Amino acid sequence: MPLVIPIFISHLGCPHRCLFCNQHVIGTPAAGAVVGGRQVSGIEVGSIITTWLARSRPGNRGQVQVAFYGGSFTGLAADYQEELLGAVRPFYDKGLVSEIRLSTRPDFIHSDGLDRLLRHRVTILELGVQSCDDQVLRRSGRGHGHGATCAAVDMIRARGLQLGIQLMLGLPGDGFGTLRRTVGEVIRLQPDFVRLYPNLVLQGSGLEALYHRGGYRPLSLGRAVVLAAWVQKRFDEQGIQMVRMGLQPTLSLTEALVAGPHHPAFGELVQARIMLGRTRQVLAGVRSGEQVSLVINDRDQSIFRGQRSVNIQRLRQLGLLERFTLRTDPDQPRRTVRLEP
Ligand code: SF4
Repeated sequence: MPLVIPIFISHLGCPHRCLFCNQHVIGTPAAGAVVGGRQVSGIEVGSIITTWLARSRPGNRGQVQVAFYGGSFTGLAADYQEELLGAVRPFYDKGLVSEIRLSTRPDFIHSDGLDRLLRHRVTILELGVQSCDDQVLRRSGRGHGHGATCAAVDMIRARGLQLGIQLMLGLPGDGFGTLRRTVGEVIRLQPDFVRLYPNLVLQGSGLEALYHRGGYRPLSLGRAVVLAAWVQKRFDEQGIQMVRMGLQPTLSLTEALVAGPHHPAFGELVQARIMLGRTRQVLAGVRSGEQVSLVINDRDQSIFRGQRSVNIQRLRQLGLLERFTLRTDPDQPRRTVRLEP
């Protein structure tokens, strides 16, 4: 796992106000990073990196990423981008930082801007795609359509940068049909990784007003878990890595949360649901009264059980718990269950 040094530039560089967005809340970082609302300087960037490197264990310094999160980096003024990236350069040149990543909007990707990023050794670009459906994008106030995403992906790929795509579940106008099309489109675009966030109603966002007027109903937690599990399985089939599901639980997020499927361990709930489904599927082919052995990856033991052993309880209710013994194998692919003969 690389050491990721986060630098938050929340809302900076972004003239938009997407309906769901309150970057001042979701961008509030862990200790050591910079809070948005004021411009972080290149000097501050340098001191953040120095502090993180000094605090890190030597074993973690092999692969160090500096990540500019929040806001829309490529929408910042060109000289300010130069200042921020230039502050990372000395660390990069000394081999103390190996990768620079940043996030931005699809319609803020342009040829000259990408050339600047390459000059400063940026290697990973994350696009806030959110949905590939034009109607969902319009109702969410994104200010661009899916065509902008396709054009941005082509330009990023042409320059050999790694591509991450951020998606959201349950935006206004989003349903299973639009989600299915979005996932199909993302598979076609072949990103290196994906992040998935269930949409939340946050204080101060445009969505809050809509929600209070009865014009928006968020997903329930259960429905969000079911949809996210479906998305994860589709990406698993295609070898597309899902690096995160759900927002980091922070105090400011908890305070600003008005409604929606937030859970501090959302990703774990999703993985547990997938494991339960796969276990049931495997056991469905076993004759009644027969005892079998199931094999899972040793790192999947907690998602096999589920939070508070919810999966174990469910298997017991279904009369399936006594039908198998469990064995772990480090070579078993993650989130899969094998029936041992
Ligand atoms: S583009 Fe990103 S930072 Fe800007 S308003 Fe939308 S979600 Fe917020």
